[in-house]
Amino acid sequence: MSSIKITLPDGSVKEFSKGIKGIEIAHSISEGLARNALSIEVNGEIWDLSRPINQDSSIKIFTWNDKGGKYAFWHSSAHLFAEALEAVYPGVKFGIGPPIENGFYYDVDLGDIPFGDEELVAVEKKMVEFAKQNNAFVRSDVSKKEAIEYFTSKGDPYKLELIEGLQDGSITFYKQGNFVDLCRGPHIPTTAPIKAIKLLSVAGAYWRGDEKNKMLKRIYGITFPKQKELEEYLFLLEEAKKRDHRKLGKELELFAFSEKVGMGLPLWLPKGTVLRERLEQFMRRAQVKAGYEPVVTPHIGSKQLYVTSGHYEKYGKDSFQPIKTPDENEEFFLKPMNCPHHCEIYKTKPRSYKDLPIRYAEFGTVYRYEQSGELHGLTRVRGFTQDDAHIFCTPDQVKGEFVKVIDLVFFVFKSLGFENYTAQVSLRDPADKTKYIGEDALWDRAEREIQEAADERGLKTVAVKGEAAFYGPKLDFMVKDALGRSWQLGTIQVDYQLPQRFELEYVGADNQKHCPVMIHRAPFGSLERFVAVLIEHCAGNFPLWLAPEQFSVLPISEKFNDYAQRVVDTLRESDIRGFLDDRDEKIGRKIRDSEMKKVPFMLIVGEKEVSEGKVSVRKHGEGDKGSMDLNEFVTTFSKEFSLPSS
Ligand SMILES: [Zn+2]
Ligand SMILES: [Zn+2]
Repeated sequence: MSSIKITLPDGSVKEFSKGIKGIEIAHSISEGLARNALSIEVNGEIWDLSRPINQDSSIKIFTWNDKGGKYAFWHSSAHLFAEALEAVYPGVKFGIGPPIENGFYYDVDLGDIPFGDEELVAVEKKMVEFAKQNNAFVRSDVSKKEAIEYFTSKGDPYKLELIEGLQDGSITFYKQGNFVDLCRGPHIPTTAPIKAIKLLSVAGAYWRGDEKNKMLKRIYGITFPKQKELEEYLFLLEEAKKRDHRKLGKELELFAFSEKVGMGLPLWLPKGTVLRERLEQFMRRAQVKAGYEPVVTPHIGSKQLYVTSGHYEKYGKDSFQPIKTPDENEEFFLKPMNCPHHCEIYKTKPRSYKDLPIRYAEFGTVYRYEQSGELHGLTRVRGFTQDDAHIFCTPDQVKGEFVKVIDLVFFVFKSLGFENYTAQVSLRDPADKTKYIGEDALWDRAEREIQEAADERGLKTVAVKGEAAFYGPKLDFMVKDALGRSWQLGTIQVDYQLPQRFELEYVGADNQKHCPVMIHRAPFGSLERFVAVLIEHCAGNFPLWLAPEQFSVLPISEKFNDYAQRVVDTLRESDIRGFLDDRDEKIGRKIRDSEMKKVPFMLIVGEKEVSEGKVSVRKHGEGDKGSMDLNEFVTTFSKEFSLPSS
C-alpha cells in the first residue's frame, strides 16, 4: 500500500498509509485528542473523521473548542433533530437544516399540525433518546438517480428540488439510526457526544427565502457536550433578552421609533437626550485636552463634493438619492460621512508643517441607506451621529497620533466600564499590493507604526492581512460586554486617498508642497450603536455621571411634598439631575418604581428627615445608606456625579 504525507498544524509532516482516517491520525497524536475529536480540516475543507484521506494533505483536527468542531456538532444535531421529529410526526417534509453561529435550525413542512412549546419538548425528549443510542453518522455516495428514487418514494418534494440543482457524482447521503438525509456533511462520528439538548423556538421561513414559496416552520435548537454548558448558554440568553437595548430603551424612555418619521430613524426622548448629551460633553472635554478643535458642518453636501471624494462613484446608486432644488440645476446628497466637509475646512487657508497636526472634531450626523430588513434597534439605523474627527498630519506624525488616539479610546472604555478589549490591525494583502493607493514605503511604515503604537500601549492585537481598505491600514477595537459578547467599537483609519482627491497641501520644512496624511477616528463609532451596546453592557444601570436621572425624592406622604421639592431644587442647583415623585402612592410603591427605572439614588423624606433637615439615602441595587444632609450627600458622591477626567 502506498503512503501519503500528512502535514500537521505545527508544520511537522507524518507519513501514513493511503486511506488513513482522521480519527486514526488523532489516535496517533494522543488518546485525549481522539476522545475529543469531532471533525477534521483537510486542505481547508471540513471532513468527517471517518473519511479516508487518499493524498498528501494538510490537516487540523477539531474539537469542541474549534469553530469547525462546533460546526460539525451542530450540523449533526440538526440531523438528530430531524430523526426525532420524523419519529414523532411521520410524513413531515424537510427543507434545509444548517448549523448556525449558535446551534442549528431546520426548515420543515408540518402541514397543518400546530407546533409550539409543548411539541418542542416532546421532540427534544426523542432527541435525547436517539442520541443515547450512539448511532454512527454514515456517509454514502449515491447517484442522482438513486437520490431521486429515494426521496420520491419517501415523498419529500423539497429534497427533490435540492437534488435537481446537484451534479450527478457529487451527491452524498448521511444516515444515522433510521434517518437518511441528503447532505454534504461533515458530521461527528456518532450521536453519543450530543448530551445536552434544547429546542429554542419556532419561526416562519419561506422555502428558499422566496416569499412566493410556501411558508415553512424554522425550528431553532442548540446542543452541547455537557449539561453545564447548556445551562450557562441558556442563562446568558435569558440575560441578553432582559438587557436587550430595544426593550430597555422603551422601559427607560430613552428612544423610540415612529413609522411616520421613517424606519431606522431614531427619535431621542428627553431622558435619552440627556444621556447622549452627557456622552458628548464627556467626549468634548477629553478632546479639548487632546488638542482637537470643534467644527460644525451641514447635513447635506453638493453632488460635486461626493464626486471629488469618490463616494458618488462608489456608493451613489446604493444610497439615498439626490435632493434637487426647485429651479436651479442643483443636486445635493445627505451626507454619508463627514470627511469631505472637513477636507474643505482644511483648505480654507494655506498650511505649513508647523500647523500640523490639525485635528477637527464634530459630532456629525450622517445618513446611510440600509435595507429595511437589515435595520435593528439602535445598532443598525439609517441616520446616526458619529463622534468623528479627522487628523491631518505629516507621515512623521502618524505614530504619535495613533498613540494619542489609543489613549483616548482607553479612557472612554475605562470610564464606561468596558474592561475587556482587544484590537484588530488591518493590513494590506502582501500578495497584491497594486490594489492599494499610496506609496509603498508609506504603507510599510504606517503598518509597522500602528503595531508599535498598539504594543507600546499594551493593547492586545491580531493583525489580519488583506483586511485594510484600499486607501490605508486601520485599527479596530473589539470590546467584550458583561455577557462576553464581542462588539466592534471605535476605529482609527489611515487615509492616503482623500487628501489627494481634495488636493490638500502643506508647505514642508524643505519649502516644498506636500500632501498631508489623514486619520479618521471615532472612539464611540456612532453614538446610537455605542448607547445600544452600553445599555446591554450595564443592563441600563448607567454610571452615576451618565444616568439621565440621578436621584428621585420620595416623600412618605403629601405633608412632606414642599420639603421634598426644596430638596429637588437644591440638588438641581448643584447640577445634579432628578425628580420629585409626589404621586399619592405608598412609599413602598414609589421605591419599587424608582428601582424599576434604575434611578441611582432614592432620597426618602418623612417626619424625621424634615425635622432634622436631612434625607434618607437609598442606593439602587445596594439599599440603605443612612440619613445625611444634602451637603453631605453631594460631597460623599461628588466624584461619581461629575464627568470622569483623564
Ligand atoms: Zn446535513
Ligand atoms: Zn472620516
